[in-house]
Amino acid sequence: MSVIDRYAVFGHPIQHSKSPRIHRLFAEQTGQTLCYTAQEVLPENFHHAVSTFFADGGKGLNCTVPLKELAWQYAYQSTPRAALSKAVNTLILQDDGTTVLGDNTDGCGLLTDLTVNHQLVLAGQQVLIMGAGGASRGIIAHLLAADVASIIIVNRTIEKALHLAHEFNQSIPVKGLGFADLAGYQFDLIINATSASLTNQLPPLSNHLLAPQGICYDLAYSNEDTPFVRWGKQQLAQKSLDGLGMLVEQAAEAFFLWRKVRPETQTVIALLNAERTHTA
Ligand code: NDP
Repeated sequence: MSVIDRYAVFGHPIQHSKSPRIHRLFAEQTGQTLCYTAQEVLPENFHHAVSTFFADGGKGLNCTVPLKELAWQYAYQSTPRAALSKAVNTLILQDDGTTVLGDNTDGCGLLTDLTVNHQLVLAGQQVLIMGAGGASRGIIAHLLAADVASIIIVNRTIEKALHLAHEFNQSIPVKGLGFADLAGYQFDLIINATSASLTNQLPPLSNHLLAPQGICYDLAYSNEDTPFVRWGKQQLAQKSLDGLGMLVEQAAEAFFLWRKVRPETQTVIALLNAERTHTA
C-alpha cells in the first residue's frame, strides 16, 4: 500500500492561510502526489506538535507567525541562510528518516517578488523594516545582499529592533529604532514585517516617511487591501503591495526543497489574484 507524503503549515492564527491551496496547485502542476494541511499550533505546544507530526510520518513542515524562532531552535541542522537569520519557516525530514533540517525561504521569496515579479531595483535604496520577529529575521540578509544603501528596523519593543540591528550591522548600516524616533527620516522602500495586519491594525506611522516614488510592501496578504497597503496608497506610493507574491515564491522554494521539483509560480499568483478580486 502506498502512503501519501504529508506536509503541513503550523501557525497561530492559521485559518487565513493560503498555503494548503498553493501547495495543492503546485502538486497538480508538477504531477506530485502529496497532502498539505494547515494546523493551529500555539507556541507552548510547538515542540510536541512538531515531534508528533514527524513521528507520525510527516515529511515536511512550514512554520509561520509566531513560530519561526521556535522552529529555528527545534531544527537539528540548518542551512546557512537559516543560521544567518536564526529563524526557520521550512522543516525538511532528511533521507535518514530522523534528522530534521531547518531552512528559511522567506528572504528569497521576498526578493523574487520584488525584483523579478515587480521588476524593482533594490541597490542603493534606503529601507525601513517594521517588525523584529521571525519574518524580519528572514529577509534582512537578502536585502543586504541586494546592496540596499541602509536598513532601519523599527519595532514596538525597541530592544528587539536594537538587538536585530546589532546582529546584521556590518558594511551596510543597519540601525534599530522605536516608532517615535522616525521623525525626519525618508525611505525608498517601507516593508511591514509586523503581524499588525492580521488584526487589521496599522503600526504607528506618521506621514512624510515615504520618499517620492517610494514603494510600500506588506508581508501580510488579504483579499482586501491591508491597513498598510491602504496607508501606502494614501502616501502616493509608486506601488503599495501585499505579500501574496512573496507567499507563492517562498512556498515554491519550500516545495523544491521537499520534492526536488521547482513549480512555476506566475500562473499560481495570477490565479490567486483573480480569485481575491472576485471575493473582495
Ligand atoms: P512574529 O510573531 O515573529 O513577529 C511579529 C512582529 O510584529 C513583532 O515585531 C511584533 O512586535 C510586531 N507587532 C505585532 N502586532 C503589532 C502591532 N499591532 N503594531 C506594531 N507591531 C506589531 O511574526 P512573523 O515575523 O513570523 O510574521 C510577521 C508578519 O509577516 C505576519 O503578518 C505574517 O503573516 C507575515 N509573513 C508573510 C510571509 C509571506 O510569504 N507573505 C512570510 C512571512 C511572514 P513586538 O516585538 O513588539 O511584539
